[in-house]
Amino acid sequence: MPGFAELLKDEIQEIVLSEDQIARRVRELGEEISRDYQGKEVVVVSVLKGAVMFVADLVRHLTVPCSLEFMAVSSYGASTDSSGVVRIIKDLDESIEGRHVLVVEDIIDTGLTLNYLRELLLNRKPASLRICTLLNKPERRAVDVPVDYVGFDIPNEFVVGYGLDYAERYRNVPFIAVLRPEVYNKRGEGA
Ligand code: 5GP
Repeated sequence: MPGFAELLKDEIQEIVLSEDQIARRVRELGEEISRDYQGKEVVVVSVLKGAVMFVADLVRHLTVPCSLEFMAVSSYGASTDSSGVVRIIKDLDESIEGRHVLVVEDIIDTGLTLNYLRELLLNRKPASLRICTLLNKPERRAVDVPVDYVGFDIPNEFVVGYGLDYAERYRNVPFIAVLRPEVYNKRGEGA
């Protein structure tokens, strides 16, 4: 059976991070986080849907007791010039008061969304709150949000795969890639 790279060769411009590179780094992050939280219990809070693949792989490398919580949020107003103010579509099932919270994100771009979410969660008085992101675009940062664990710094290019979508597609692709410009143009016209 042909692999994803072969199947999508007309749509993908470049593979930025391979499956192996991702798997290795996720394991390292899991080991680092496990060391840092030694003797503690952690509530892993992840934001749907982009971080699903990452969090599923990451928690399998956590050797400390942990629970898994999901939030769903949507931005107010136009998507691109977002102020970072988000509406909660699905909130946490459990209280985080007095607990150690690790927020797991897929990608930090401007940081506005995460900054807002961080403030919101801090208001609920967790014992601690740390942030872990698989991907980070430092060039694009608009607010100074403290990030404790970063998988990879990447340049300012729109990427898909390993949970990240373009128009809800490509989340299932096991590597991270940049699409050919035609793909965006075509979809833009059709939508
Ligand atoms: P921020 O508030 O940091 O600008 O927004 C981060 C969100 O924008 C991410 O959670 C993700 O949904 C989206 N995003 C930012 N950069 C990319 C990208 O390169 N690819 C995809 N698929 N989504 C992105």
